[in-house]
Amino acid sequence: MKTPLVDIHTHTAKTADDLIQIVNLGLGQDVPEQGLYSYGVHPWALDNADFQLEEAFEVLEERLQSPNVLALGEAGLDKMHKESYEQQIAVFEIQIDLSETLQKPMILHDVKSHNEILALRKKHKAKQPWILHGFDGTEQDIRQLTGQGLYFSVGESLMHSERKIAKSLKSIPLELLFLETDMAEIGIESVYDAAVKLLDLDINTLRAQIFTTFAALWNIGKTEPAC
Ligand SMILES: [Zn+2]
Repeated sequence: MKTPLVDIHTHTAKTADDLIQIVNLGLGQDVPEQGLYSYGVHPWALDNADFQLEEAFEVLEERLQSPNVLALGEAGLDKMHKESYEQQIAVFEIQIDLSETLQKPMILHDVKSHNEILALRKKHKAKQPWILHGFDGTEQDIRQLTGQGLYFSVGESLMHSERKIAKSLKSIPLELLFLETDMAEIGIESVYDAAVKLLDLDINTLRAQIFTTFAALWNIGKTEPAC
């Protein structure tokens, strides 16, 4: 069997023999018996006046107990949603503590918030890996964010030559790279294909590297995962 492809963040559950995916679910959805999931309070949730924060945290804590829930996410900060930014920080800080206590890595939504995210990581002395999903930054952003326990997950923007990441992908240390489909209606294979072209790498090398990184983050045996 080939090394599985890893889709580190998606909203669409698929089944295939050689595919591992972390499917992001809403807090209202139960944890399915099969598959791997992430749950979190997204910064956009705070825009909804009906949103009940205390209730959300209760559900989140319970969901995170499941071994099928590998990560806390999406959580994070979004400067385009200015009105709620202070509250976003407070909600993010609670989730940082949850992630540390329950030893679950985080999948982060980061819009124009690199500095704040790095500062909060320091403030909380966070040790869990944080994966910046939908990453589309410059070489300079990558330099700023490397070596701090952060990982980069890149999606369909790789397929568009005008996007920053199409030029900067090579600057991401390979052992910090993940790929994702997120909301895009594409297969993870096409994201891998776009990445190998930009990185000038062999597909099997990339598959092996990303699987090794995934296995290391979640302490999964170096052979085949049990999922
Ligand atoms: Zn997403």
